[in-house]
Amino acid sequence: MEVPVRKFSIIFLLFPIVLYSQIQLPLSRQTPPEGTSNSQMMEFLNEIIAKKNIFDFEIAGKSRLQLDIPVIFFPNRNEWKKENTTVMIFAQQHGNEPSGKEALLMLIYEFYLDANFYDVKNLNLILVPMVNPDGNEIHQRRNSHKYDLNRNHVILTEPETQMLHQLFEKYKPEVTLDVHEYGYTTWLKQGYIKNFGEQFDCISNPAIPAKLKNYALNEILHPTLDLTKSRGVKANRYLITRGDLTHFVRHSTTDINDGRNSFGIQNTLSFILEGFNPLIKQESIWQRGKFQLSLIESFLKTCNQKSTIINKMVTTIRENFSKHPSDSVVIVADYTINFSNPLEITLKKTSDFKDTTIVLPDYRAEPEALKRVKRPDAYIVENPGEQLLQLVTGNFFKHKILTSNKKFRTEKFMITGRDTLHYESRSTVIPTGYYKTENTIFSAGSLLIPTNNNQANQIVQIFEAESFYGLSHYPEYKFLLKNNEYPIYRVYF
Ligand SMILES: [Zn+2]
Repeated sequence: MEVPVRKFSIIFLLFPIVLYSQIQLPLSRQTPPEGTSNSQMMEFLNEIIAKKNIFDFEIAGKSRLQLDIPVIFFPNRNEWKKENTTVMIFAQQHGNEPSGKEALLMLIYEFYLDANFYDVKNLNLILVPMVNPDGNEIHQRRNSHKYDLNRNHVILTEPETQMLHQLFEKYKPEVTLDVHEYGYTTWLKQGYIKNFGEQFDCISNPAIPAKLKNYALNEILHPTLDLTKSRGVKANRYLITRGDLTHFVRHSTTDINDGRNSFGIQNTLSFILEGFNPLIKQESIWQRGKFQLSLIESFLKTCNQKSTIINKMVTTIRENFSKHPSDSVVIVADYTINFSNPLEITLKKTSDFKDTTIVLPDYRAEPEALKRVKRPDAYIVENPGEQLLQLVTGNFFKHKILTSNKKFRTEKFMITGRDTLHYESRSTVIPTGYYKTENTIFSAGSLLIPTNNNQANQIVQIFEAESFYGLSHYPEYKFLLKNNEYPIYRVYF
């Protein structure tokens, strides 16, 4: 009697699995689930693309160790509409922060099962689940060249960040989202941890037009957080501090070398998401992915609803900006005491794991602009060298190489000393000095970078000698401070 029953039950158990999901998420194929490798992701994507042409798919680039970095377009680019808002979401610049990748694979899988599962009909989506495959494979923050990719978006020495900027240049998304994870150690010593699994924030560089920043904050960030919370997932703005509960707290950096402000400074509604990162890589990896997906879903829904406005606003700002870039550009800013206010938030007490309301007395929501410069018409460098040329082409800055000697009216920065700015919990050495106006003859081969385009503010922040965001504090560009003249000159036509 026992044999037929067992046979029947085995067939009965296997039947729905075989029928329903010939293709499974990489996490579903692992017991216990521990995180998706590069080859598992590639296998999954290849299977899905072979079955459904609702997606299309490319290898956007290769990592330092030659692993594939795929990009998935949804819907298929044949079906993209010009009036749609293009949204680019990229995850796992930091290899030891895997849940954003799992969330994007879950999102792709939901589209595969039902193309209308999420309402994104007003959006063109560009999805890059694993920016840093080399880091992913060994659960390491940096890439295999020991670079923190999320500090590489100015100098763009790494193939992984170059790939992201190529995608941005090609599709000019109006909206971008960079997905990360955060450690839970903030306020741990005081007996509190963040009770929210998801931290979310937007563009903060002081040179980004206020209209874009306000829209990002009020029309996308807050509605996304509200929607996420209404789904039962705890979410909050991204808070960072280097001290105890009385120490000042802010919303991340203003620097343009990360995945958010580097696109934001090019007039983009740009965001960062950070999910909770526990001690062990595989701990509750499903749940972490689902929490991230919940916020991403709320974000897409918000963008989808406002797609027409977003597309029109960003396109207009970029077009106007190309014709009339700002006359003055902020090059130094900090979260100063002037912007201090108390902030009430809910934290979890580690003694009993209960939620408690806490008032943080020194919350600085906005950075204060501390130094502005008048935008020159261009910058010029004699003998730019391979590294600087690669930076200019990697960032797609419009530029010219002089073919013969040419005279320009210039301002050159004479270096008289050094200053150290202790802003945003880092020490940044910038040169001090004064400007000298003169006519200078530059030889053939000199590099001229005009500022009359959509990247004007980015160009000014990178090339100004006294900029907090400038080149000279990168170890690769220390040579800029070698002599008593800063070798990047301002040019006036
Ligand atoms: Zn990160």
